[in-house]
Amino acid sequence: MSEMTESEARPEPRHAKVLIIGSGPAGYTAAVYAARAALAPVLIQGLQPGGQLTITTEVENWPGDTVVQGPDLMVRMAEQAVHVGTEIVSDIVTQVSLDRRPFAIETDSGTHWTADTLVIATGAQARWLGLDSETRFSGFGVSACATCDGFFFRGRSVAVVGGGNTAVEEALFLTKFAREVHLIHRRDELRADKTNQARLLAHPKIVTHWHSEVAEVEGTSAPLGVTGVQLRDVRSGALTPLAIDGLFVAIGHVPATSLFVGQLNMDEEGYILTAPDSTATSVPGVFAAGDVKDKLYRQAVTAAGMGCMAALEAERFLAHGEAAAEVQAEVLVGA
Ligand SMILES: Cc1cc2nc3c(=O)[nH]c(=O)nc-3n(C[C@H](O)[C@H](O)[C@H](O)COP(=O)(O)OP(=O)(O)OC[C@H]3O[C@@H](n4cnc5c(N)ncnc54)[C@H](O)[C@@H]3O)c2cc1C
Repeated sequence: MSEMTESEARPEPRHAKVLIIGSGPAGYTAAVYAARAALAPVLIQGLQPGGQLTITTEVENWPGDTVVQGPDLMVRMAEQAVHVGTEIVSDIVTQVSLDRRPFAIETDSGTHWTADTLVIATGAQARWLGLDSETRFSGFGVSACATCDGFFFRGRSVAVVGGGNTAVEEALFLTKFAREVHLIHRRDELRADKTNQARLLAHPKIVTHWHSEVAEVEGTSAPLGVTGVQLRDVRSGALTPLAIDGLFVAIGHVPATSLFVGQLNMDEEGYILTAPDSTATSVPGVFAAGDVKDKLYRQAVTAAGMGCMAALEAERFLAHGEAAAEVQAEVLVGA
């Protein structure tokens, strides 16, 4: 048996006019638009094909579907992207060089890509508590998104973990549906802004649990669902049961932007900055769409909308080159 030489083992270098990183709603929508513009896009899926919606169950706010399972929706998006001419690649981007065009992209499989334009749709991940019981009930009573799942808890009792603006806003939002909302926080004061704090502390449906953390999520197996949590007093270690039907973890999100540090302008939390009303980043020809640049809405439909914008802007960039890039030169925020 002859040994393979290094050049034989290495995958062929590839080129794409539009290379999309990420397979959530932003990436797939960018792919559909770029493919329908005859740009033969290539989409690299990453570690989580389908993105965040693959770890949830019912989605009730995707337009056109009364209710759809998150994983099913993402399979349909992938099929649509392929149907119109996208090449979907099962791989992970490990390195990018944005200092000259075409951009250079390396992947886990060792493929070297070059791309005339790049759409970054790598999303974000919610921060979780890190408990096995939290993972077990994820999508079955444990959530990281009140806007997405609050509606399922009409007349029920829920808890929110966290002390920042997101946690407080989620708790206030949940009062529209829930019978009572418990706010669980490790400290005895909130990091949220004063207005939000005042609204929360005055709200008759909200009960605050200071110096507390969730030690365990408890529930039933059939059907899988949450029935309560064990609260641990962080000072004494004492455990107290709290009966709830849903747990919302609101301790922050982490955008998947480590590949682009030092190459693209980002805010202090690592979200990619884009020009106003645009997905154009600080590097001409590079566009960012979805949760990777959006810490405000974090919805499938807004991510998809930005994916559409990114593809249209990439198309314009390819047609008009540097002239289209002028708008990007204005993305100097944080520079
Ligand atoms: C549990 C849960 C329930 C939710 N429910 C709803 C809901 O009901 N309705 C709603 O509108 N929204 C919901 N959301 C929010 C919604 O899922 C996100 O807003 C949306 O998925 C963001 O889409 P995105 O395309 O920006 O990124 P994501 O969905 O985060 O996808 C990111 C993609 O990038 C890929 N990627 C990352 N790094 C790399 C890399 N190095 N190389 C290649 N690929 C990479 C990943 O594999 C993934 O495919 C929910 C979120 C969660 C966590």
